[in-house]
Amino acid sequence: MVSTLEITQVSKSFKNNNGSVHVLDQLDLSVKDGEFVTIIGPSGCGKSTLLKLIAGLDLDFQGHIEVGSQEVHGPSKDRGFIFQEHRLFPWLTTEKNIASNLSLKDPDVRQRVDDLIALVNLKGFEKAYPRQLSGGMSQRVAIARALLRNPKILLLDEPFGALDAFTRSHLQEALHHIWESNKTTMVLVTHDIDESVFLSSRVVVMDSKPGRIKAIVPIDIPYPRKRTSKSFQEFRT
Ligand code: ADP
Ligand code: MG
Repeated sequence: MVSTLEITQVSKSFKNNNGSVHVLDQLDLSVKDGEFVTIIGPSGCGKSTLLKLIAGLDLDFQGHIEVGSQEVHGPSKDRGFIFQEHRLFPWLTTEKNIASNLSLKDPDVRQRVDDLIALVNLKGFEKAYPRQLSGGMSQRVAIARALLRNPKILLLDEPFGALDAFTRSHLQEALHHIWESNKTTMVLVTHDIDESVFLSSRVVVMDSKPGRIKAIVPIDIPYPRKRTSKSFQEFRT
């Protein structure tokens, strides 16, 4: 199978006043086309750093990162990025946030934005501003925006971490639905083991000092999956 993401011997250090801090150490990881991978690991082990390297937001590293057989050398429409906080423009409506710098007067853009609004279940909120939306709705706008240009890969950095458990479980289902319908390759960083087991086909477990991959655990449970923890089952009843 074709691999969408190929990480080879990636190392990364940050320079500070006392010299440099080694954050990632010779990471290798290959993610197949259409795969859903989650990355877990303790705080500070380098998960966000790794995601930013894949996104092309930081080019100061050793090794190679390829997305769709192209070496990463800056941000690109091939890669959608979703942060923990939604980072929507407060002065733009839902539809304009999703359209970003494309014009809604273009019928193709209009159609794409309408399809995305339906996909993330925000019909009726096209003209709402971020302050009128809940945290979960705002994060759905951010997901739609990241999907606008049909990226090869979606990179999500603890996207639901700031939300309550109920909203989180709804958004996990929404993301699963998007993955099933679009077959977008997903790399999601999370603190939540339940979330990994619910969503992904492989869990990459990272370790700190410096960041390495400790284990890659396949999750061979067919979809749709049941929630693993009791609290989730209670929510659903
Ligand atoms: P995680 O997302 O796994 O919690 P991060 O990737 O954010 O971890 O950070 C990994 C390590 O790199 C931490 O020790 C953090 O302090 C350090 N770090 C992250 N960003 C910077 C930066 N811009 N400058 C210096 N050190 C940084
Ligand atoms: Mg982080």
